[in-house]
Amino acid sequence: MEIHNKLYIGGKWVTPHGPELINVENPTTTATLASIPAASAEDVDRAVRAAREAFQQWSRTSRADRAELIGRLRDLLGKRQEEIGLTIATDVGTPIRIASRIQAALPVTDLGVYIDLLQENEPEERVGNSLVVREPAGVVAAITPWNYPLHQVTAKIAPALAAGCTVVVKPSEVAPLSVYQLFEAIDEAGFPPGVINLVTGFGPVVGEALATHPDVDVVSFTGSVTVGSRVSELAARSIKRVTLELGGKSANVVLDDADLATAVKVGVANAFLNGGQTCTAWTRLLVPESRNDEAVALAVRFAEGFVPGDPLDPATKLGPLVSAAQRDRVRGYIETGIREGAKLETGGVDTPAGIKRGYFVAPTVFADVAPDAVIAQEEIFGPVLSVIPFRDDADALSIANGTRFGLHGAVWSADADRALAFAREVRTGQIDVNGGAYNPLAPFGGYKASGIGREMGRQGLDEFTEIKSIQL
Ligand code: NAD
Repeated sequence: MEIHNKLYIGGKWVTPHGPELINVENPTTTATLASIPAASAEDVDRAVRAAREAFQQWSRTSRADRAELIGRLRDLLGKRQEEIGLTIATDVGTPIRIASRIQAALPVTDLGVYIDLLQENEPEERVGNSLVVREPAGVVAAITPWNYPLHQVTAKIAPALAAGCTVVVKPSEVAPLSVYQLFEAIDEAGFPPGVINLVTGFGPVVGEALATHPDVDVVSFTGSVTVGSRVSELAARSIKRVTLELGGKSANVVLDDADLATAVKVGVANAFLNGGQTCTAWTRLLVPESRNDEAVALAVRFAEGFVPGDPLDPATKLGPLVSAAQRDRVRGYIETGIREGAKLETGGVDTPAGIKRGYFVAPTVFADVAPDAVIAQEEIFGPVLSVIPFRDDADALSIANGTRFGLHGAVWSADADRALAFAREVRTGQIDVNGGAYNPLAPFGGYKASGIGREMGRQGLDEFTEIKSIQL
């Protein structure tokens, strides 16, 4: 068992104020994997003070110096990619191929994006007699979830450090082990003391202490709508800038002229990525009424290919859910779907065949789901797909836009212009046309209850800057 009993503050591993620890579980075996400190508000205060002190110097460093240090960190993380993949396969339960190719690879990409942006000149603009400049916003609190536990941290710290901010990271207590690997690399990279700090613990204690701390300037939060709204409320009291990356209920819209088999195959893989514990998951498959039966049969066939198994086996496509609580929540939604009258085509609440332990849920497909059903409206965060038939493009658009979320989505058509026109009408921060690939240079974030602000790309950097107009 791994025992972490230190926090990383002021460039050193330090002992927390209290002795409390939090156990981290392996969701495949249910064994205790590790323990981490449950830090206190005093620890948060110490970390914020270290970050504030470091801000004086760090905010004045050159872009080249910041790029060099972030580059060192990227190289160190790159060397540990395999080890990090294994850690995330173990504490999140992500199948190892996805854990290495996405979970462990994306953080290296995230850092690279900002190293490249730092090679460009400082963006300054002349407006009449004013010189408009951007300056680092100050001390950043980064509060992150467990589903992509390292990427969600690097997507915040890379732009924050690049902008010249200093940071206190509060990772999810559910799957924090890769974040320790990141901080070992941060220590080795040689950042000045206090530029980047780690305080682990429970959200209501550590997260709330950060959101209310008078010396935190920016709170960058990724997680659930409920907690995001709480964090926003707390941060508003001291007028902090808040960025929220929250949930989703994304629609995969297959127009009537599309290649149905490809759209459904890619769609099912997207919906079940990381066991469906992905904020962008296309959990609603919207298909023309005339092709509904064909689409349902394809969805069932592809879903049944996601056989639950050991995440450490390279052949596994579906691991366990992260915790007993998450499994029970997902099963609860499956029960609701059945009760509401949707047709359960495959999967369900029973433990999948051949599984003896661990928090597994069978890949589940519902057909004939009403657009306003609970399972079509709420984020389930498990391997559950709802197939929803539509009459025509206008109906499809109204269903796609008919939830409180607006994070991601997809549209498929043989006519690229028709697909693009449809994509422009969907109220989401990102949407893929005919399987368009993930682009780390593109801003990412949500409309409506999916969030406020953007991560990644230049816009992700701007979130960590203040704008100053100097009249000449
Ligand atoms: P969560 O909201 O429960 O927790 C997120 C973080 O907030 C954790 O570090 C947690 O400890 C902390 N926290 C909990 N209570 C707090 C409080 N009162 N004050 C301050 N911080 C507190 O979310 P989760 O279960 O870890 O993650 C799943 C959710 O994250 C899903 O809703 C998912 O859609 C969302 N998510 C969004 C994105 C995105 O980019 N939009 C990406 C990944 C996950």
